[in-house]
Amino acid sequence: MRILVSNDDGYLAPGFGALIEAVKPFGEVTAVAPEQNCSGASNSLTLTRPLFVRQVHSGDHAVYFINGTPTDCVHIALTGLLDQMPDLVVSGLNDGQNMGDDTIYSGTVAAAMEGYIFGVPSIAFSHAEKGHAHLDGAVAVMREIVGRYVAQPLAHRSGPFLLNVNIPNAPRDRIAGVVATRLGRRHPAEPVIQSQNPRGETIWWVGAAGSAKDAGEGTDFGAVAQSCVSVTPLRADLTHHDQLDVLNAWLTP
Ligand code: MN
Repeated sequence: MRILVSNDDGYLAPGFGALIEAVKPFGEVTAVAPEQNCSGASNSLTLTRPLFVRQVHSGDHAVYFINGTPTDCVHIALTGLLDQMPDLVVSGLNDGQNMGDDTIYSGTVAAAMEGYIFGVPSIAFSHAEKGHAHLDGAVAVMREIVGRYVAQPLAHRSGPFLLNVNIPNAPRDRIAGVVATRLGRRHPAEPVIQSQNPRGETIWWVGAAGSAKDAGEGTDFGAVAQSCVSVTPLRADLTHHDQLDVLNAWLTP
């Protein structure tokens, strides 16, 4: 099995090494990640300047970094850098949760989504609490989930799976189980933070994400609150199918 590993925290992030470690037993690993932390980059492609690809490690698995976004990394890997398409794209382990509305902004999810858009089954992994206090627990969980995929690939008539996985930041024996979930929702984000730089100019920092609003039974927030690993199947089609009929009637004279 050929596995492409990427992330959004940058190629030096501890969670990136942890994910490489977790999937190494399952085949030929190539890792391609951004040079800088690109958290919040969403599905952005760099189109206004050239990109370079630098290799930093070439032992039993190759590690490359690119001066671009997570989406750039997977895009370049799939459209020219790799000799063959991978069988699986994995992204992470993100330092912090990507639940509910976070998935719209997340570079971790975007890296996996780029694989999915190219028809490759893809999994995004995030540590649900910042700080990677229990990386060993997350490595064990990621190895279990990828191992399950290798033993029994997921299939559906609609095409490949894009899985969004959030792992409690806890030792493996404190994690209660692995459950399928839907995305919850957050309240609107906290206000932007206004300040002054040393030159007296006004600067703006984007505020924190909102707290969880729809976080009950069956949601990603709910699962993690119960110390479970949350696994949500995502899709890239943004069409609001429930609204099509009303829109159609509104547009029809
Ligand atoms: Mn990140």
